[in-house]
Amino acid sequence: MATKQFKAESKRLLDLMINSIYTHREIFLRELISNASDAIDKLYYKSLSDGSTGLSRDDFAINLSVDKAARTITLSDNGCGMTKEELEQNLGTIAKSGSLAFKKENADKENKDDIDIIGQFGVGFYSAFMVADCVKVISKVCGSDEAYCWESHGVDGYTIEPCEKEGHGTDVILTVKTNKDEENYDEFLESYRLQQIVRKYSDYIRYPIKMEVEKRRPKEGGEENETETYTEVETLNSMVPLWKKNKSEITAEEYNNFYKEKFYDFEDPAKVIHSSTEGSATYNALLFIPARAPYNYYTRDYEKGLQLYASGVMIMDKCADLLPDCFSFVRGLVDSQDLSLNISREMLQHDRQLKIIEGRLEKKIKSELLAMLNGERDKYEAFFKNFGLQLKYGVYSEYGAKKDLLKDLLLFYSSSEKKLVTIAEYIGRMKEDQKNIYYASGETVERIDHLPQIELLKDKGYEILYLTDDVDEFALTMMHEYDGKEFKSAASSDLNLESEEEKEAAKKQTEDNKDLLALMKEALGDKVTAVSLSQRLKTHPVCLASKGALSLEMEKVLNAMPN
Ligand code: ADP
Ligand code: MG
Repeated sequence: MATKQFKAESKRLLDLMINSIYTHREIFLRELISNASDAIDKLYYKSLSDGSTGLSRDDFAINLSVDKAARTITLSDNGCGMTKEELEQNLGTIAKSGSLAFKKENADKENKDDIDIIGQFGVGFYSAFMVADCVKVISKVCGSDEAYCWESHGVDGYTIEPCEKEGHGTDVILTVKTNKDEENYDEFLESYRLQQIVRKYSDYIRYPIKMEVEKRRPKEGGEENETETYTEVETLNSMVPLWKKNKSEITAEEYNNFYKEKFYDFEDPAKVIHSSTEGSATYNALLFIPARAPYNYYTRDYEKGLQLYASGVMIMDKCADLLPDCFSFVRGLVDSQDLSLNISREMLQHDRQLKIIEGRLEKKIKSELLAMLNGERDKYEAFFKNFGLQLKYGVYSEYGAKKDLLKDLLLFYSSSEKKLVTIAEYIGRMKEDQKNIYYASGETVERIDHLPQIELLKDKGYEILYLTDDVDEFALTMMHEYDGKEFKSAASSDLNLESEEEKEAAKKQTEDNKDLLALMKEALGDKVTAVSLSQRLKTHPVCLASKGALSLEMEKVLNAMPN
């Protein structure tokens, strides 16, 4: 029998699993159960949409059993199963989602601390090798009469052979490692320990996870207090998905674990938004704002979207239509009973129900962010560091369609407060006669602070918003005003801050120096459109200013853009 080699990257991950001195080994069971549940989802979805399987909801289950003497744990599902090719594809190559994300994030790290990350998000099938030295996968596709057995003892490779299997689905059989030095694997052969792990990580799995458990009862015809043991098949999980549970019954830890496991993050989310609504659209939504932007967030690779469930069955992994672009950082899921199960991607795009849900979620996310801004300022600022850029792009894009939604959520650095402020806070501090909200752009706060163009404004005690991201000024220009106060660049030439006498004096000065200015313009030629005297400078002899709607900074950004 030919032994096949794992693909190189799979081998690396496998190696990491086998040699991990990892303390959360128990998560292997969570991974296998979630695969079993996914496999059942696939078959259940198929049976609902084309009815070809003849199976109904109650037929599906996951079975767990343990054989202490043989040192094996068996996890069986009656899901979709895998063909010979699929066994090869899915288990011989590194899995797409979880494991790959792990691999990318950790490509260049190899020390032990990082291994701890493993337990906190999905690492997939190979995690079985943390506790087993032999893994067998026996699988049969529903409707087929061929079964195959995939077997591997670790990095040496794997074999695939035809075998016998009764029903369809998959059995994963682990031979648990023997205790070595301080490392205890025997615990995983204890029934109570397995039950505990299932309850801890897989309670919400929607199919029953059954196991034969030992129980005690008073012995019939025996002495008083005399008991006997008997076995009974018990369903270990409560099966209620987290998002359908009552909010008051869910702990922060449950939310956090759920998020990390489901969305492959290794940090707790910054915010959990759990809401359910009835009325024109009935749905449960469980949304999370990550504590940190994913490594690919500001790239084309990032794919926004929420998981979409129809009455508890997942029908789409990343439904983009549920999230506006400005909130693309939100992860989570929506479960609605109003959606039909065999709805196609194309149909979804036009689904009125979906549009209503998107609108509601948009409002909800905004109000939660506002609440964070008003109640947990530090947390909000940390959020803004990660995703503020996206909000500002949001104001600017879609021809400003989202500007009213987003304007209250923006923060900019203030010259006088020396910290991030909202536009409303700025307006609250405006001088009585002040008509405009002043801003100045530059690469960094320090650089802007030294701009000659803003000296006069600062001197007169006006607060200025410092814009350091390229998109900032475009966003403000798109908003045009906030509460009737227009935004005005501190660098524009018509600030109108001088008194009548000052204006007169300036006019006279310009008149007196006409020849000099003309000479300068001649010397500079095409490099400038005009040379004029300014009252704005205090410590600097000269500065550049722009005429018209575009500031110098915006011109720079536009010039830098590819055509
Ligand atoms: P992921 O679940 O993130 O895709 P895994 O490493 O956990 O990655 O699993 C790899 C793939 O193997 C799965 O995507 C699935 O196609 C297949 N698979 C694993 N377990 C089962 C199972 N019990 N039944 C059917 N397919 C399975
Ligand atoms: Mg998996």
